[in-house]
Formats: sequence, structure tokens, C-alpha cells
Amino acid sequence: MESLNLETSPFGVNLLPWRKVKRWVCIRCGRCCSSLDVPLTYREEERLRKYGDVFRRSKIGVYLKKDDYCIFFDGKCEIYVERPEACRRYPFYFREKGDDEAFYRYNSEKIYVYVDGSCSGVGKGEKVEKVIQRLLSRFKVLGD
Ligand code: SF4
Ligand code: SF4
Repeated sequence: MESLNLETSPFGVNLLPWRKVKRWVCIRCGRCCSSLDVPLTYREEERLRKYGDVFRRSKIGVYLKKDDYCIFFDGKCEIYVERPEACRRYPFYFREKGDDEAFYRYNSEKIYVYVDGSCSGVGKGEKVEKVIQRLLSRFKVLGD
């Protein structure tokens, strides 16, 4: 099993600098909900236990998988509003170093942002700059 935070996955991660992507929206196809483990913070693990059989493996909390799907996937995410940070970030990857085309300035921070081109929502929806801006305003993306 791989993690949503890692750069490899069973369906093949194809990391593209954000400038090559232009638009993105989650079309809730569930592709990323299969085969990938979802790392949880301790707080998320506690919060999500009431919805299903979340279990902990080593230091990383992951969802119990049934038939290769996240336990919360039933055609679509059953806890979409409550989904954890790893799911909210995907398919965006934030790095301290990278290519010029991945460079993104956020306040005084220099961040390199990549998008997994394997995600079905790439090329659709909202301008990708807006999505990145929103993610950066919500999450601490580096040094975690
Ligand atoms: S693969 Fe992309 S579009 Fe499909 S559910 Fe995951 S994030 Fe959404
Ligand atoms: S919590 Fe929802 S979005 Fe995240 S992997 Fe599970 S089904 Fe997919």
C-alpha cells in the first residue's frame, strides 16, 4: 500500500509542475480512494472513529481497506465534508525545492507545487492558482 502523501501509487503518479495544469476540480471519481492508504493525524483518527473502523499502523493512522477501497468509499466518499487533510490536499504536493515551473510564492514563503496528473479532475474546474492559494491558507504544507 502507498500513501496519499507519497509520490508513487498503484495507478501511477505523474507529478506535474502546477503551471502545466491550469485547472483542477475533484470530480469525486474515487480513483484516489482505492489502493492508497490515507495517513491521519491523531486528532483525525479520533474524530473519524465514530464513522468507521479506523485503525493505526505504526506511527501513521490509516483507514481500514476493504476490497482495496477506503472504508468510507461507497461509490463516492461518505464523509466528504469530514475527510482528512491528506484527502483535501490530494492531488497537490508541496516541496521545498523543485522546478521553475513549480515555483509558487506564498507571502514570504517559496514553495514548489506539483499536481498528480493521474487525478481525473486535472484540466477541469477552478484555476489551479486559486486552489493552491486556498490549500496554503488552510494547511501548513512544509516541514510536516
Ligand atoms: S482522483 Fe482526483 S478527481 Fe478523483 S476523487 Fe481523487 S482527487 Fe477527486
Ligand atoms: S476519506 Fe473519502 S476522500 Fe478520503 S480516501 Fe476515503 S473515501 Fe476517499
